[in-house]
Amino acid sequence: MAVRIAVPTEVLPGEKRVALVPEVVKSLMKTGAEVVVQAGAGLASGFPDALYTAAGAQVLTDRSQLLGNAAIVLKVQPPTAEETAGMKPGTVVVALVNASRNLDSVAKMRDAKVTTFALELLPRITRAQSMDVLSSQATVAGYRCVLIGASLCPKFLPMLTTAAGTIRPAKVLVLGAGVAGLMAIATAKRLGAVVEAYDVRRAAGEQVRSLGAKFLELQINAEGGGGYARELTDEEKKQEAAMLAKALGDADIIVTTAAVPGRKAPILVRKENVAAMRPGTALVDLAAESGGNCELTKPGENVVVGGVTVAGPLNLPGQIPLSASQMYAKNLESFLTLLISKEKGLTTDYSDEILAASLLCKDGVVTHKPTADLLAKGAA
Ligand code: NAD
Repeated sequence: MAVRIAVPTEVLPGEKRVALVPEVVKSLMKTGAEVVVQAGAGLASGFPDALYTAAGAQVLTDRSQLLGNAAIVLKVQPPTAEETAGMKPGTVVVALVNASRNLDSVAKMRDAKVTTFALELLPRITRAQSMDVLSSQATVAGYRCVLIGASLCPKFLPMLTTAAGTIRPAKVLVLGAGVAGLMAIATAKRLGAVVEAYDVRRAAGEQVRSLGAKFLELQINAEGGGGYARELTDEEKKQEAAMLAKALGDADIIVTTAAVPGRKAPILVRKENVAAMRPGTALVDLAAESGGNCELTKPGENVVVGGVTVAGPLNLPGQIPLSASQMYAKNLESFLTLLISKEKGLTTDYSDEILAASLLCKDGVVTHKPTADLLAKGAA
């Protein structure tokens, strides 16, 4: 029997992405799946209903019918209480749940006995690269940050030689050279800026230099497990602050992307650093959602201090919704190859390493231990 996949319209305010784009619907149909999309689900990201219909999807207006008859529900954001209440027990939900920040939503899914795969839990192994939504969405966020910085900056980014004189290129400083940071560096270089970057992982240096940017180096290598950074010691933090003070004062645009898994974002830019910046400097804090890399960051706001703008944008991938949805949907297509096959339909065998790691809850039990512990603490 065909596996029925439902794609509801995202309802979180400001969320313009959609979980599946028409091109991916077409590929899923070839696996024997049946795709049902809520009317208008793709409009905000630039995909009208007609494109879904042409790709073979059914377009439905009735949300409860859409959710109540689905075997799999694909979402970008975690399901709302109303969405979860509309699903049958055993429905499989695949979404970016951000479980530790959305415990209420997890508790609702647990109680409704739906089976949830949280894409932020995917192991970052080679086989899961094509499903890696954290990487695809961080790529979009890194690009968007530079565009925000460029629009706040009172200068041109490239060097210009004109009849009205020669203009020197702007300086962009990128702190944190992971997936988002590397995309920010590449984007700033394409816009013609002079780019410097810093990361606590020494391995990032080679990648930074290969993009034509200068790498600022401390005499430490804080590489933790799985290619991620570890938290710095207090002594290392002092060295870091001393080295960054000068670079921060010289930059026209600063993009901060530093993160340590499972921890609040490290503070790399303090009030006194902002006070020492030239008026007109723009700092875009990609880490705003996880506490911010700048002491002055206010999530969702632009704070102006002494002529310096500190921007704390939220849901950056949602601001480039067409490309972000295309990448997200491709990641989902790849993930779904583990869940459905033409011959066997929807699998119930979750022993695959990727499925096992990303399974959040099933049959009324939260299977991801750190989330279960957080829920127990809050007694949700
Ligand atoms: P992330 O979002 O956790 O962190 C962003 C960056 O911040 C990282 O490069 C980290 O080193 C840096 N950082 C942390 N503390 C810092 C500090 N005090 N100062 C400066 N920088 C600091 O990481 P991410 O971008 O998701 O991934 C990091 C790395 O993981 C990648 O560069 C890659 O090597 C690896 N990765 C592997 C896979 C895979 O194998 N499938 C997928 C994605 C990422």
